Amino acid sequence: MSQTKHPVVIANWKMNPATQNEAKTIAKATVAIAKKNTHATVVACVPHIYIAEVKKTTGQGPLLVGAQNCHVDVKGAYTGEHAAMQIKDAGGNYVIVGHSERRKMGEGNELIAKKMLAATVAKLSPILCVGEEVRDTQGNFLTMIETQVVTALSALPKSRLKDVIIAYEPIWAIGTGATATVADVEEMQMFIKKVLTKQFDRTIARHVRIVYGGSVNADNARELFTGSGVDGFLVGGASLKPVDFGKIVSATK
Ligand code: PEP
Repeated sequence: MSQTKHPVVIANWKMNPATQNEAKTIAKATVAIAKKNTHATVVACVPHIYIAEVKKTTGQGPLLVGAQNCHVDVKGAYTGEHAAMQIKDAGGNYVIVGHSERRKMGEGNELIAKKMLAATVAKLSPILCVGEEVRDTQGNFLTMIETQVVTALSALPKSRLKDVIIAYEPIWAIGTGATATVADVEEMQMFIKKVLTKQFDRTIARHVRIVYGGSVNADNARELFTGSGVDGFLVGGASLKPVDFGKIVSATK
């Protein structure tokens, strides 16, 4: 299957690394990966506290920076939270919304829809994560994915949809070493396009980039990319290991 869009590979550092110094080291190596792989958009979604530092490391360079969550409001009494506009102001261009680790903390589809809107109002590209906990043989998980996509995008004006990236991340594959098969990923990206066509139209379905996440590594990236028709990857654990992350980005050539 051939890819027609500019691939995108997103690093999700989660709550890592432990120190600013380590963050700088990984950021420098990731900038070098982005410089070497101009065929792809490379994004590092880092803890809020590291956004400004990573942005300083990349400067006007090709590595783009993002956050892993944002609040729905622009400012106010929300202790410990960060507004989308603050992420933008610190140098961010992307934000992950609805990651399964945040859904597990209680975020539901309606809240995620508000965050999607807040992100796009702040001119951040939201990376919407969707995924099932288990794959039942009746295919009920497909209805769940459809609800996640449709609800999350329901508040967005059509003009903002071109900035959206959808990450299909089956929960059972995140950080477990188990990956979806190429056929599973291909089926899901086609299914999500069908949902987008029904909700909006074919042009939007063609424009929204769909990536896969869930135990992507240096060894499986090439096969997953070339066989499934996805536009790239969302990478957790392996994004903290620059040698592996570099191989994953190169695999999208
Ligand atoms: C993630 O955190 O979004 C993720 C895909 O993690 P991992 O690559 O470690 O499975």
